[in-house]
Amino acid sequence: MDGRDRKKVLFIDRDGVIVEERQVDSFEAIEYIPHVFEALREISRRTDYLLVMVSNQDGVGTPSFPYESFIGPAERILDTLRGEGIVFDDINIDFSLPEDGCPGRKPGTAMIDSYRSDAYDMEHSFMIGDRLTDMMLARSMGCRGFLLSGDDMDIPPDLADTIALRTSSWLDIASYLADDSTLSHRTAEVHRKTKETDISIAIDLDGTGEGGISTGIGFLDHMLDQLVRHSRCDISGHVEGDLFVDGHHTAEDTAIALGEAFLKALGDKRGIERYGYEIVMMDDTVATAALDFSGRPELIWDAEFTMDAIGAFPTELIRHFFRSFSSAAQCNLYLSALRGGNSHHTAEALFKAFARAVRKAVRRIPGDTRIASTKGVL
Ligand SMILES: [Mg+2]
Repeated sequence: MDGRDRKKVLFIDRDGVIVEERQVDSFEAIEYIPHVFEALREISRRTDYLLVMVSNQDGVGTPSFPYESFIGPAERILDTLRGEGIVFDDINIDFSLPEDGCPGRKPGTAMIDSYRSDAYDMEHSFMIGDRLTDMMLARSMGCRGFLLSGDDMDIPPDLADTIALRTSSWLDIASYLADDSTLSHRTAEVHRKTKETDISIAIDLDGTGEGGISTGIGFLDHMLDQLVRHSRCDISGHVEGDLFVDGHHTAEDTAIALGEAFLKALGDKRGIERYGYEIVMMDDTVATAALDFSGRPELIWDAEFTMDAIGAFPTELIRHFFRSFSSAAQCNLYLSALRGGNSHHTAEALFKAFARAVRKAVRRIPGDTRIASTKGVL
């Protein structure tokens, strides 16, 4: 058969790859791996790999995992993927237990031996899995593997050649397979040192909301935690500021470094939403945020605090923080708190609304490589 006609295959594990690794015996147990839909949608749209599921489901049909508990959630997962345009061409699931020694159980290949024929191009096929047994299966099939795991797994030397990429993110796999670096994570690191502060910040715009920034000011750390969680950007950082003076330089320079990190990670802003907005209520306060990564700084501020300080943190620094961010990130930012309630609530609602506006504005529109401006530059 002509090499061009041979089909390439993506063998894909389920647990630990599509959904979190656990016995999925109820609808509540279904928890999707971050970015799996985005990545598989792009892979399906841009490449011609066949999608073949290969999964071990230990002991389905036994009292500890009845078939009735397995099948509903299993079908729900496939239905949800199908709704996103991700359709598996073939599904192979082994129900045996390790002690059964079943030849179909991974890393055994019996379930997918039919792909070892001239009709398929194993040399250019891949297995995507979260375990070394998945990579052993890839080696046995003559294909290569993507190991979806953290750095804590030791790779035996005899599997090193089989593993095309070890990553904790689906976006890296999509970027590799579609040969498009714009699909991968948008990250940046900023180090900023002055006579007043020494700051390191790392950001991943395509994260899951992990991390935090320690500034030495408890209240500001608490507000930055809101930014991390609600923006769903991964942000970690450390700030050494001249707190023996007061909190002014620390708050200002943290905002500048954060703004610089966002600006750097956004790059040329290709394919992003650009605008974001949110209204957040918190008990006695309603806060509104609107944001435009326009390339121009501006802060429109319409909020007041009933107290001059929250803990030891002057409330006037909150406005200054956002002004500094707007300057460094070169964004237009509107913030308001419609009615002044408890000052802690007001500040927290403002940070949450800001974070959620950021989340919308930095979001990439799948498949869109344009810059959201008639000028062609942001
Ligand atoms: Mg797995």
